[in-house]
Amino acid sequence: MRGFLRVIRAKRFVPEAGVVMEDGAVVVREGQIVDSGKWRDVKRRHGGNCGIEEEFEDGVIFPGLINSHAHLEYTCMKRAILPPKSFASWLERVGMMKRTISDWEFLDSIREGMAEAVGSGTTTVLSMLSMPQLLPRVGEAPLRVWWFYELADLRHRIATDDLIAGALMFFDQQEKGLGGVGLSPHSPYLASRELYRLTQLCSLRLGMPWATHVAESAEEYAMFCRRSGELFEFLVSLGRDMSDCMGLTPLQIVLGELKEIHRAILIHLNYLDERDEELLEFLGRRLMLVHCPTSHLFFGHKPFGCRRMEELGVPVALGTDSGATRSSLDLRKELRVFLQRNGWIGAVQGWRMVTRVPAVMLRMGPYIGHLRPGAYADFVVWKDPGGEGEDFFRGLVEQEEGPIGVWVGGIKRVERDGEVKWGVEEMDK
Ligand SMILES: [Zn+2]
Repeated sequence: MRGFLRVIRAKRFVPEAGVVMEDGAVVVREGQIVDSGKWRDVKRRHGGNCGIEEEFEDGVIFPGLINSHAHLEYTCMKRAILPPKSFASWLERVGMMKRTISDWEFLDSIREGMAEAVGSGTTTVLSMLSMPQLLPRVGEAPLRVWWFYELADLRHRIATDDLIAGALMFFDQQEKGLGGVGLSPHSPYLASRELYRLTQLCSLRLGMPWATHVAESAEEYAMFCRRSGELFEFLVSLGRDMSDCMGLTPLQIVLGELKEIHRAILIHLNYLDERDEELLEFLGRRLMLVHCPTSHLFFGHKPFGCRRMEELGVPVALGTDSGATRSSLDLRKELRVFLQRNGWIGAVQGWRMVTRVPAVMLRMGPYIGHLRPGAYADFVVWKDPGGEGEDFFRGLVEQEEGPIGVWVGGIKRVERDGEVKWGVEEMDK
């Protein structure tokens, strides 16, 4: 066997949301879990070959969390944004703020967001990036980041070749490291139908996921279906071609030709009608929907139709969104808000929405979202809240205390006191 084995043992071990073992351990080698389970079984299988590196007598080893929607670059905005009087005025405010922030400030903001995310138990984050020029300067990330190259063609149409060339360049800039990449036409109000068609084509050709904001606000729905409302008026004032506002729903605009749908991540979906539900039922598991609870509260949207999505067979994951909606990068806080507002959903199901569901959608099912052999060594140690079964999982959501340890790819990134460690290398390489 190459590399030496490192063991982290705790009072309890959760190999995946819903399963609990007393006195458990994970065995890590070269960034991956090579064994896990009850300590006495692990010890028997490895004999003298594994020493305990760290023990948590009060802890629970738990799969690292996956945040399915964030904008790391906007972390700094939470200090300067107020609840808006309309969606259009918020959009205008964010655009204005972006023009006053320098690249250096955005880089600091990205690093602040990463630290906040990993410091609260997230080991993988899907983040939009509207300024790809920042990417080569971001440097080392303490967690896995999937960067989604954000696209808008409000004023300039983008040709197929340009899009694919841009996406490939974006790929090249990315060091072969912890995360991945995808494309993200911003939303149907800032990206054209043609851009969505090209994105789907590109996603198929390059084998990557794509994500978009859709049906987020009542104003977006009114703009496309009724050619009215504040967002409609605001975008007319910016010179947007409004010929696509012809009665189709925002989701119909985004999905266009059904046969091309491939690995689509749809963010928000707050305002839907029967036509959309028909589409969603047809597409089911070819999509993933991302709900962002505190961003939803920030705008005061109508209640999210989680139960309906479940009936339609669409997987739902959770995201934090960003400082632009005054959200933090603490995904467990989002889960707490979500469960408070959807009392019929169990805590185990909630934890799956931040582990297993997005892992499968990213086609990373064997590697993230669980801690069985073969998975990446991405895990969190929470303080044990006590209790059994559903009560235990609910206790983990509700306790305020942050993680007492976080590992990403076998590297310890967060200490018991919450300090995030940058610039560390894996010990056993
Ligand atoms: Zn967003």
